[in-house]
Amino acid sequence: MSDPLHIDEPKIIAVANQKGGVGKTTTTINLAAALAEQGREVLIVDLDPQGNASTGLGIEMSDRKVTTYDLLVDDAPLEDAIQSLEIKNLSIIPANVDLSSADIELISNEKRSFLLHDALRQPSIDAYAFDYILIDCPPSLNLLTVNAMVAAHSVLVPLQSEFFALEGLSQLMLSIREVRQTANENLRIEGVVLTMFDSRNNLSLQVEQDARANLGNLVFKICIPRNVRVSEAPSYALPVLEYDSGSKGARAYRALAIELIENQNPSPGHRG
Ligand code: ADP
Ligand code: MG
Repeated sequence: MSDPLHIDEPKIIAVANQKGGVGKTTTTINLAAALAEQGREVLIVDLDPQGNASTGLGIEMSDRKVTTYDLLVDDAPLEDAIQSLEIKNLSIIPANVDLSSADIELISNEKRSFLLHDALRQPSIDAYAFDYILIDCPPSLNLLTVNAMVAAHSVLVPLQSEFFALEGLSQLMLSIREVRQTANENLRIEGVVLTMFDSRNNLSLQVEQDARANLGNLVFKICIPRNVRVSEAPSYALPVLEYDSGSKGARAYRALAIELIENQNPSPGHRG
């Protein structure tokens, strides 16, 4: 393909951190929307039984007929699960509470860690020409998150700019290493993004300093500011980029998308 916007194979990014409330879902929705705004074709996979990404994008419970659960547990065809959104270039595979029992139901399935990997590689995916697939992980390092890491090319870690933020990170890194050793040796760390950042707060600045000292250029240059427009947007079923395009939050997610695109060298098409 000669179109420089589009790559041959979708780049699959797991948005993961086993802590809840750190900005995984917010980052998934808004980074996806920002990439879509840049002309990329983007799929969100809601892999959290809470279904917050689906709700935040306005998918009614009654419209979640074929969900991530069906994809993983019942081998549902991908084309039945993918729903296109009203936002240009953006689609989603929704989730609901069914997914909470997947861990237990899959325990005796010997391919249990590879189900999302295989589902996202059904041949029918080619027709969608996705450039990016963002997986919104649950707040745990369970089988669902392992499925995301096995399916993905990279992991993007939202880190809340708060005390103890870095504490959980070593556990997450151990999980990534384990997945590399057992199932997905090329799994990369896409980067760590500081969320809910308040530049007037010394604690935020301290967390940023610690993160950059420990993780170097794995930390994205842009920090996502704490911004009320970001937290309001889901109740209007919109990404903040649509809800308030000029807000600080929208501008930050736009900058994150551009940084991510620019970091993408070599592209997954070349990585083999
Ligand atoms: P997670 O998916 O990791 O559990 P969420 O993305 O749901 O975290 O975010 C947790 C809460 O913080 C939500 O209420 C969300 O609206 C809020 N939030 C996330 N990012 C921001 C931000 N940049 N500014 C203000 N509120 C935010
Ligand atoms: Mg979430």
